[in-house]
Amino acid sequence: MGLVPLQEAEAVVLAACSPLPPQRVALAGALGLVAAESVVSAEAVPGFDNSAMDGFAVRAADTVGAPVALRVVTTVAAGGTGSGVRVGPGEAVRIMTGAPVPEGADAVVMVEQTTSLRDGTEVEIGVEVAPGTALRHAGDDLSAGDLVVDLGDELTPGRLGVLASVGVDELSAFPPARVGVLSTGDELVSGSTPLRTGQIRDSNRPTLLALAARAGAIPVDLGTVADDAGSITEAFLTATERCDAVVTSGGVSMGDFDLVKVVLDRLGQMRWMQVAIKPAKPLAFGTIGATPVFGLPGNPVSSMVSFELFARPALRKMMGFPAAAWRRPLLAAVADGPLQRRPDGKTHFMRVVATVDEQGLNRVRAVAGQGSHQLSAMARANALAVLDDGDGVEAGAGVRIMLLWPS
Ligand code: AMP
Ligand code: MG
Repeated sequence: MGLVPLQEAEAVVLAACSPLPPQRVALAGALGLVAAESVVSAEAVPGFDNSAMDGFAVRAADTVGAPVALRVVTTVAAGGTGSGVRVGPGEAVRIMTGAPVPEGADAVVMVEQTTSLRDGTEVEIGVEVAPGTALRHAGDDLSAGDLVVDLGDELTPGRLGVLASVGVDELSAFPPARVGVLSTGDELVSGSTPLRTGQIRDSNRPTLLALAARAGAIPVDLGTVADDAGSITEAFLTATERCDAVVTSGGVSMGDFDLVKVVLDRLGQMRWMQVAIKPAKPLAFGTIGATPVFGLPGNPVSSMVSFELFARPALRKMMGFPAAAWRRPLLAAVADGPLQRRPDGKTHFMRVVATVDEQGLNRVRAVAGQGSHQLSAMARANALAVLDDGDGVEAGAGVRIMLLWPS
């Protein structure tokens, strides 16, 4: 079987995954989701002219020739209506930040530039101010009719704040995908039980559940299933019913006729690919009904890299992200040491530690232990260096990296 180029394998996966049906969500539960509608403000923000400072609302013309003394007629606090309050010639109104600007006033003098006189009944204004000083006008931030969130925008903390600022407390958004993670194999042991010869601990399930959570999805632990056609069939049918996508690991290598493969071929439309990448060459992908199923390689590093390259972009597409945000961005970095490889027709994803130097440049160094079974080396790395087919790069050369965490 020929090797499938990475872009082609990715295209097969993405073509089978579509955005989930949008739901109404409260702002409180919307962080990180993607808006499924555009939201237009019905209000101006701020809604009224108000003071940018604690100080005195004045007529700017009265400050000419400062210092000048003005009569303090009243106080307007933030939250006060200011209704009926007027600043006449020779007058000032004590005003707090955010309070409505009284009629007649066209500027605010900050309290630091004033001196209280006669028990506060008068104020000495220490500076001349121009009209408009320290005023915030209605609509300075937003006008009624402005677009505040567009379809496809990620609901970041700032955007949630903007929605709140215009009185929107719920909106239509793409829900987080429920991602079922399943391990198969009689050899797998979970927890602290002592191992018999031939047994291994199931590290992929917790890793993949965590990767799903980091991708913004809802991880669903589907446990471990024994190598038995009946149990595997049952597990996949339940999984595809309960979840929006299913991720398994193991049993997808070349020439591996294990039961996962037999069952998946019977239940769904699967593609068994050998992708031109290292690690994570084998990939089974398909659908059972309309539910995408990812058969990732069993080797722990491979399953993580495969999740990053195929499952994460697919899940982000399902969760409504625009195409430009499906993949992790490739960043430019400088290799601190050689990143060597041999020509083999594949793109290599080398595990590296990336740090940012004083100039703000990304610098990378390969971690020791580049085997696809060496999970602890992967765990020490925070990025993958993308090495095209060839001999790799010398120390000091440029290289592209994919930052994995913090994410
Ligand atoms: P396979 O793709 O089934 O041939 O598995 C490749 C390697 O991955 C083998 O060494 C398995 O022991 C290992 N492996 C498979 N499933 C898991 C798992 N859930 N956790 C850790 N290692 C696994
Ligand atoms: Mg196996």
